[in-house]
Amino acid sequence: MLDDVTQKAHDETRQGEAFAPFAADPNSWRRRFYIESYGCQMNFSDSEIVASILNAEGFGATNNFEEADLVLINTCSIREKAEQTVRKRLTEFRKMKKNRPGMLIGVLGCMAERLKSKLLEEEKLVDIVVGPDAYRSLPALVEEAEGGQKAVNVLLSRDETYADISPVRLDSNGVTAFVSIMRGCNNMCSFCVVPFTRGRERSRDAVSIVNESMQLFENGFREVTLLGQNVDSYYFVDEKKDEVVTFAKLLEKVALISPLLRVRFSTSHPKDITDEVLYTMAKYENICNYIHLPVQSGSTRILQLMNRTYTREWYKAKVDRIREIIPDCGLSSDLIAGFCTETDEDHQDSLSIMEWSRYDMSYMFFYSERPGTLAERRYKDDVPGEVKKKRLQEIVEVQNRLSLESNKKDLGKTFKILIEGDSKKSDQEWRGRNTQNKIIVFPKKGYDLKKGDYVNVFVEDCTQATLLGKIIN
Ligand code: SAM
Ligand code: SF4
Repeated sequence: MLDDVTQKAHDETRQGEAFAPFAADPNSWRRRFYIESYGCQMNFSDSEIVASILNAEGFGATNNFEEADLVLINTCSIREKAEQTVRKRLTEFRKMKKNRPGMLIGVLGCMAERLKSKLLEEEKLVDIVVGPDAYRSLPALVEEAEGGQKAVNVLLSRDETYADISPVRLDSNGVTAFVSIMRGCNNMCSFCVVPFTRGRERSRDAVSIVNESMQLFENGFREVTLLGQNVDSYYFVDEKKDEVVTFAKLLEKVALISPLLRVRFSTSHPKDITDEVLYTMAKYENICNYIHLPVQSGSTRILQLMNRTYTREWYKAKVDRIREIIPDCGLSSDLIAGFCTETDEDHQDSLSIMEWSRYDMSYMFFYSERPGTLAERRYKDDVPGEVKKKRLQEIVEVQNRLSLESNKKDLGKTFKILIEGDSKKSDQEWRGRNTQNKIIVFPKKGYDLKKGDYVNVFVEDCTQATLLGKIIN
C-alpha cells in the first residue's frame, strides 16, 4: 500500500529513533532523559543540541524510556501523517505516565510550534511544549512543570542559531555528521509549513561552523553535511575580519580543514544555487559531487502556484549548468504529486522532467494540505486521494527505473569510497558511499581497513538502491 511518503523521505529508517550516546554511560547523571526524533535531518540535529543543553543540567540520555525522568518527542509537521504518528506516540506515553506520575513528557519542534499550548491545555497530552527556537529554556521549563505549572515556550527568534552549543552526537557512526549552518526559511513555498514552524531564515556564525567541523575531524569524523532549508542563501558577515561569507565561501572554508574531510550539503533551492558554488565544488576534490535539487513539479503552472519562483525551463537550464561545470555530479530531487488543480498534463510534465534530469534518487510525496499555509488559504485541495496515489505510484515507478539505470551506468567503474561501517546484512562486508552519494557494499576480505578509511572499489553489480563491488589496490 502506498503511504504519503515513499522511498526514504526524511530517512524513514530513522523515524522515531531513540538516542543515547553510550551503551554503558561512563558519566553519572542526576536524572535521565529519553528523546525520540521525527522528520527531517534538521530535527535529528536539533535533538543533539537539546541533549547538550540537558547534559549541562545534569540530565543523561537513555534509550530506555521506562527509566527516564523526562520523555521528549522532537516532532515534524510537514505532512498530516507525520503529526498522526506523533499523536499516537504521545498517547502511549501518557498511558505510561499513569504508573509513573513523576515522569514529565515534553513535545519539541515543529508540532510544538504549530499547535502551541493546544497539546497541553486542550488535549492534555504533555507537560512541556517547546518550539525550535526555545531549547535553551528547556531546563527552566522542566522546573516549572515539576512545580505543576504549564510550561510553554514557542517564541520564534530572529537570531537564535545555537552557534555556541556543541551538539552531543547521539546516534553516530563516528564517521559522518550533520552540522547545522542556518535555521528557518524565508521562501514561502505555498504548500510548506516550515516558514511558520521554524521562523525567519538566519545564518549561523561561520567561525563556529568551521570550528565544529574541525573538532569533528579531530575526533575521527571524515564527512560533514552542512544543513539548512536553503543552504545557498547562507550569508554571514564576520565583523571581526570584515568579511562577507557566502555559501560558496563557507564550503571552501570547511573543505580546507583537511583533504581527508568530505563535505556535503543539503538542501539547495534551484533559484539560489550559484555558479560560484558549482565552481567551488569543482575546485575541491573533497566537496562531494552531489546536489539535492528539489523540483517539486515539472509543470510551470503548478510551480507558480507553489510559489517556487522558477519555471520548468529555468530548472532545466540549472541542471544543464550543473552538468556543464561538474559533469559527473549526482543529482536527487523531491517531488509532490497531486498539488491543488494538478491535471494529468501537469503530472506528465513532472514525469518528463524526471526523465530529463535523470535523478539518481528522489524523495516522493503526495500533497498533504497543511493548516495555515498559503496553499490552504488560497487554493482548493481538489485532486482526489486516489488520483494522488496513482500519480505518486507512477512517479515512484519512473524513479525506480531511473535509479537502476543510473546504477547500471556505474558498472565497471572504480570509485573512492569512504567506509561508514559494516553493511546492514553482514559484518563480513563494508558499506560506504562514493562522492555522488551512492551506497556501495563490498567484501572486507584480505584488507586491514576500518571505518573512516578511504578505499578504491570496483563496481561489479548493482541493485536499484545499491552498488556492489570489490576492493582494488
Ligand atoms: N527546504 C527544502 C526544500 O525546499 O526542498 C526541504 C523542505 S521539506 C522539509 C522537504 C520536502 O517535503 C519538500 O521538498 C517537499 O517535497 C515536501 N513537502 C513539504 N510540504 C509538503 C506538503 N504539504 N505535502 C507534501 N509534501 C510536502
Ligand atoms: Fe519549505 Fe520552500 Fe522553505 Fe523548503 S524552501 S523549507 S519547501 S518554504
